[in-house]
Amino acid sequence: MANPILVLAEQLRGEISDITFEMLGVGRALASAVGAPLYAVLLGSEAAPLAAKLGKADKVFVADNPQLNLAPAATVTAVLKTVIDQSQAGLVLVGCTNVSLGIGSTLAAQTGLPLVNFCRAARADGSAIQLTSQLFGGKILSDVKLPDGRGIACLYPGAFPADDGKSDQAPPVEKLDLPVEAPKVTFKQYIEPETGDVDITKQNILVGVGRGIQSQDNVQLAEDLAQVLGGAVCASRPVIDQGWQPLSRQVGKSGMTVKPRVYFALGISGAPEHWEGMQNSLCIIAVNTDPKAPIFDGAHIGVVGDVLELLPVLTDKVKARKG
Ligand SMILES: Cc1cc2nc3c(=O)[nH]c(=O)nc-3n(C[C@H](O)[C@H](O)[C@H](O)COP(=O)(O)OP(=O)(O)OC[C@H]3O[C@@H](n4cnc5c(N)ncnc54)[C@H](O)[C@@H]3O)c2cc1C
Repeated sequence: MANPILVLAEQLRGEISDITFEMLGVGRALASAVGAPLYAVLLGSEAAPLAAKLGKADKVFVADNPQLNLAPAATVTAVLKTVIDQSQAGLVLVGCTNVSLGIGSTLAAQTGLPLVNFCRAARADGSAIQLTSQLFGGKILSDVKLPDGRGIACLYPGAFPADDGKSDQAPPVEKLDLPVEAPKVTFKQYIEPETGDVDITKQNILVGVGRGIQSQDNVQLAEDLAQVLGGAVCASRPVIDQGWQPLSRQVGKSGMTVKPRVYFALGISGAPEHWEGMQNSLCIIAVNTDPKAPIFDGAHIGVVGDVLELLPVLTDKVKARKG
């Protein structure tokens, strides 16, 4: 049997994060392909009840310790290293998120395992693991092979279906009773994002506007469409930089990653930094005056046209359809 695959589960404020399910889905597929068991490790106070949600794993190691709440990378890797040594894990999956930032690289330094960051795809090739790493904000996709399947892979959030990692069955749990050194940096406070605004990551329909919308006044045209569709407006970075929309609506590398059922990209060129944040939308509808705009390379439906002309017509059509 191949060495176990280990997933570092992420939880935030008492909830398992989507990236955990994404990693469990990937881990399950790889584990089945190479004939390895899949383990998860869950850290933090009151973590134990959350372990029941990680049923895709064959076993969950739980370290229920308040010092492990959003702990710094050095503290988490000390625990992880013990679990790797005990379980003989070969491949470790870590989220490429703010919560797990630095853990992959610190763990690689401590274990000597190779690190592959920003993974967007993973598959087994015999006993080897083939990973696709996204570099330079998506401009380069690099295929990296772990010949013996051993290494640390940091998975990009939103790149894999979270549903593949969900299960109704509770997994066997093994409690870890490890001494945890007092971290040099401690988590003090969670600061809520701006209140009173919508959470664009939770919307089914997003009307995204880019520089092509041309003025703050024109954003209202997108608001009208979003309203009749029951969605929300979001934007590319230039629109945010102009102050036409709040920062909480920015989609992309330095904004939010969204996965709505429908994403309108209106007057958005499709730069890699924007694409990165919305590429997993189920249906992307792009409107752009430039037929060569890169957004058309990935959109499901493309319209070469002027958003300012199209938006009022579209809004009226939807209104009429809805009666
Ligand atoms: C480190 C870094 C991080 C970044 N993070 C982000 C990020 O998080 N999110 C983000 O979006 N960008 C980000 N960027 C910026 C990114 O590189 C692009 O500059 C940005 O996405 C471009 O936005 P845009 O498509 O709205 O504008 P443009 O690239 O200027 O495109 C405007 C488009 O509108 C079209 N157009 C013009 N008029 C009309 C019209 N009337 N009707 C229809 N189409 C029209 C044009 O043909 C063009 O394709 C980042 C850049 C860097 C370096």
